[in-house]
Amino acid sequence: MYTKSKELFERAQQSIPGGVNSPVRAFRSVGGTPVFMKRAQGAYLFDVDGNRYIDYIASWGPMILGHAWEPVVKAIQEYAVFSTSYGAPTELEVEMAELIRSMAPNLDLVRMVSSGTEACMSAIRLARGFTGRNKIIKFEGHYHGHADPFLVKAGSGVATFNIQTVPGVTPGVAQDTLTAAYNDLAGVEQLVAAYPGAIAAIIVEPVAGNMGCILPEPGFLEGLRAICDREGIVFILDEVMTGFRLAPGGAQQRLGIRADLLTYGKVIGGGMPVGAFGGRKDIMQHISPLGNVYQAGTLSGNPIAMIAGYTVLSALKANPGIYTELEEKTIYLRDELDRVFRAWGEPYRINQIGSMISVHFSDHPVRDFSSASGANNELFKLFFHSMLRRGVYLPPSAFESWFLNNALTRTDLDATVRAAEESLAELN
Ligand code: PLP
Repeated sequence: MYTKSKELFERAQQSIPGGVNSPVRAFRSVGGTPVFMKRAQGAYLFDVDGNRYIDYIASWGPMILGHAWEPVVKAIQEYAVFSTSYGAPTELEVEMAELIRSMAPNLDLVRMVSSGTEACMSAIRLARGFTGRNKIIKFEGHYHGHADPFLVKAGSGVATFNIQTVPGVTPGVAQDTLTAAYNDLAGVEQLVAAYPGAIAAIIVEPVAGNMGCILPEPGFLEGLRAICDREGIVFILDEVMTGFRLAPGGAQQRLGIRADLLTYGKVIGGGMPVGAFGGRKDIMQHISPLGNVYQAGTLSGNPIAMIAGYTVLSALKANPGIYTELEEKTIYLRDELDRVFRAWGEPYRINQIGSMISVHFSDHPVRDFSSASGANNELFKLFFHSMLRRGVYLPPSAFESWFLNNALTRTDLDATVRAAEESLAELN
């Protein structure tokens, strides 16, 4: 079933560390051979052995409208003949910035970068430059990319591989990253009291998606906002996963919260390498060339990346009904999975918001990193492989959210639920 994938994985390991260009793709936490993809269309992935999968990863979020969506393919083809990069400003960048500002609340100024990591590390540098303070607060199990300040109690692959301290991150950098438990406002208050006037920023995934899908409890984000206002701390919402996914205006719109700085990635690039950060003008004007907080990028605002992102974002803006459809599909999946898991009889928890969902084999509510870590990952592994064999491609780690794309049909969702029913029967 996976003959060519196995061969390719062997070959890849001769030239690429671990055979992959991003660790979680290696299937380490679930075991087995990563599936090598050949092409994708709509909601389906096709691997090098000719197997078809219903896709619940969506390239870790970006492919909200499905794969090889014709308007994006056409736009890329049309623009590629002009040039694939100028290193000079273009009208397209202006249009992209205007479009983003028209969708996301609260963005006085926005700068394009090439990944979510870049967006988050630039936002932190800016917050430090703006406040003249050094420390930041992040939350256990949250992932803001692989820049040094974030690799302290991080989620996603860092949690998947159970890496506590990342070699290469200097103690000097690590000591400036303070961590609190998600959904624990009292813990944040303690840190703020322990380091008076020293905290530049609080950065948070509004919906945590890098330890499964974990929702903010009522009052948590509002409480962070109030602490930031009181203490002169820059409040950064990392909307790399939630931006343009939970609503045209992301988590800010969906949850009714406002940040000082926002970071974006994933959906914003329509499948191309794009990120962005932006927010309050009085903060953003410290970025060079307006101010002297330096930040730059050879390929920032790349025309092919911009046109892909622009095409997807303008479709989302023009058809906000897509969000209703996506949510209806996700709720249908959630309720059907709930039915088959309940019939199975062992403990589980399903968390969902918008088109983000995850299943934990857990007998307790999953509300932070410690409860997510307490789930039964051995069962998740078995479930993952059982689903894969049945043509359903889930994230290969329980520390990840599933992302629905709007190309999924009711038939796909029903096939997924049937696969889950059969997979659970195999677990007994
Ligand atoms: N922030 C969040 C919330 C993410 O989920 C990710 C990636 O998964 C990042 C930042 C980093 O983005 P990138 O992988 O594009 O560097």
